[in-house]
Amino acid sequence: MLDTDFFRRWMAATAAVVAREADRLTELDAAIGDADHGSNMRRGFAAVNDVLEKEPPATPGAVLTLAGRHLISTVGGASGPLYGTLLRRTGKALGDAPEVTGEQLAEALGAGVSAVAQLGGAQAGDKTMLDALLPAVEVLGNSFEEARDAALAGALATVPLRARKGRASYLGERSIGHQDPGAASAALLVGALTEATE
Ligand code: ADP
Ligand code: MG
Ligand code: MG
Repeated sequence: MLDTDFFRRWMAATAAVVAREADRLTELDAAIGDADHGSNMRRGFAAVNDVLEKEPPATPGAVLTLAGRHLISTVGGASGPLYGTLLRRTGKALGDAPEVTGEQLAEALGAGVSAVAQLGGAQAGDKTMLDALLPAVEVLGNSFEEARDAALAGALATVPLRARKGRASYLGERSIGHQDPGAASAALLVGALTEATE
């Protein structure tokens, strides 16, 4: 079972890996965007960690809804509302249970990913964070390791794609040949699940 502490560790592990990889995320965004994705994510997850320490929520669902709210309020641009929606919707789907199963998390994250697709109007193959999130959600019920590997493969597979959503889409053909920064950060978020297990 996954308890409230597991979800706090997941957010802490995400903040740590995003901070370590911020320069790489920003470099990816420099190639096809406006060179702020690493700093956006680092600022957002640092704020999430601060609030989780100051106001520790009582349930897994509350951890994710609070995290999502703070991402929306601290991160501008496209990724703040999209990641914020992902975590808020996932948290809402978990309800107020004190512990959840891996299956329940997989199902809830599936609802979160659908909400991201709805908000941003993107689908698989559009070269966005969804290209890492969608394959991860499909195998999350098997294991966190499988989900991490699927997200990473999905992020790498964005390289030859042409961006159809977000800032990178303004580049048209010139977006081809670069990894999508949001897909790269989504792979970090999913990969952090493997670090949150005790
Ligand atoms: P901005 O583009 O506003 O500077 P960021 O650089 O933080 O915001 O985030 C860019 C990432 O957001 C992209 O790499 C992409 O993965 C994701 N993104 C942008 N638009 C969409 C969308 N409509 N749907 C899903 N993801 C999107
Ligand atoms: Mg950007
Ligand atoms: Mg920006």
